[in-house]
Amino acid sequence: MKVYRVAYLGNDGEAAMGLETALKGDGFQFMRAGGDYQGMEKAAEFNADVILWDKDNLPADAAFPLEEIRDAGLTRQAVVSVVRSNDLEGAIKSLAGGANDFIYKPVKEDPLPRVIAALNTGQKQRRIDWCNRVIEDTNDQVKGILATLTDPAYIVSPEYQILWMNRAAEEIFGEGQRGGACHHIFYDRTEPCEVCAKSKGAARWRATLKNGKSYRFISAVVRNSKGEVEKLAVGTDITPDQEVSKIHKTFIANVSHDLRTPLAAIDQYVNILLEGLGGELTEDQRDYIDVIRRSSFRLHNLIENLIDANKVLSGDFKLKMEVASIQDILDIVLGRLQSQAEDKGLTLQVQVAEGLQPVYADKSRIAQVIANLAGNSIKFTEQGMMQIRAGFMPRDEGRVIVSVEDTGIGIPKEDLGKIFDLFYRVEKDKVYVEEGAGLGLAISREIIRAHGGTLWAESMEGMGSAFHFSIPAYKGQAVIR
Ligand code: ADP
Repeated sequence: MKVYRVAYLGNDGEAAMGLETALKGDGFQFMRAGGDYQGMEKAAEFNADVILWDKDNLPADAAFPLEEIRDAGLTRQAVVSVVRSNDLEGAIKSLAGGANDFIYKPVKEDPLPRVIAALNTGQKQRRIDWCNRVIEDTNDQVKGILATLTDPAYIVSPEYQILWMNRAAEEIFGEGQRGGACHHIFYDRTEPCEVCAKSKGAARWRATLKNGKSYRFISAVVRNSKGEVEKLAVGTDITPDQEVSKIHKTFIANVSHDLRTPLAAIDQYVNILLEGLGGELTEDQRDYIDVIRRSSFRLHNLIENLIDANKVLSGDFKLKMEVASIQDILDIVLGRLQSQAEDKGLTLQVQVAEGLQPVYADKSRIAQVIANLAGNSIKFTEQGMMQIRAGFMPRDEGRVIVSVEDTGIGIPKEDLGKIFDLFYRVEKDKVYVEEGAGLGLAISREIIRAHGGTLWAESMEGMGSAFHFSIPAYKGQAVIR
């Protein structure tokens, strides 16, 4: 069993004697030395576990000398202050100055419980100190790694104050910005950004910074060695490479146009065959050619969508803006949608709020969005109904909201954030509906954005989906994209 060592540092012979008698009787090894630096060094050589520091070593109003004790090499020891029995104030001062406990002198009670308690708290404190050192070291290592990144990284306090920035962030925002408010320095805003204000923990967002580049940020909550919460954010440059985008765009445009020519030939010869110009067809042959005709039609749609996506997603399209009512826009697509819904045995309900303000929009582009959303609803609904509703945006009469809702298969939670990405299709839906290339929603979101609006989705798997978009209502002023 470990034998603990106790060192009394002081010049009070009676107190030393009392402590020695009691603690030796309890199985401790004991030494005494003076209350000066040499005494402390002797205690360190003795490898004491507990230091009993006589408060009379210093004037009554002197601070408890914890730092001096540690400096003398007694770094791990529990420290107990030995104070006169009527000196409660001295005892409290010692605890405030870092002593683990105190013992009254002359020694009347068994000091063992106080010494054991001090050993215990000393050990706990050492463990906490060690953990804090590990946290500090880890934080320093993380900062060291982040400092070398070519992308911006920074740490902010819960009060949105910049505490640290790496070199890449300093190059964008300038040096010496520590202490400033992040929303002000990063985005020239007077109020905290929504993502930061709302998210207490981890968050993801995209932002265009002062260097004109776009970044995807991920933030996480970290704690410093004092246990204070801080937010660490790291950005990844997602600015599309202009050269690559150009090659990409030209490639899609060329391939799409080249595909149109053979497809036109297929359509032409299919029609010749169906008209009987190549000879009489049997019933089976007609069915086969009909399959070719439908497949060619789908391919045709896909190519047109690809060409359109190429234009819309590269911002290479013009809106023909005019004042129009939502009803005018719905009229462009409703006939086709009604018959598609009927073909599948679905009910399509349409509701436009009374007195709904017109919008300033490209009618055919907004109609295209409604057709995309409603077309999806029809595709992914086997029974039940679909609804298209248009009204004022709740709590914002300056905007018009259009919702397309269905009672279809719904969208799994993990896919909901991705369905607006280019070419994204929910895995299980590929089996359910073969048709589709995952372009419609990406195009629709871009069209709505170009109108100064937002498109978003809500869904519950197995229950149905609701897609909503809001665009500014016409207030007698033209809204230019
Ligand atoms: P697609 O041409 O494949 O329909 P979209 O971009 O329009 O492309 O849609 C992307 C994917 O989102 C679809 O493939 C489907 O998995 C899912 N989706 C879209 N609308 C609905 C809906 N109303 N119900 C269920 N899933 C939907």
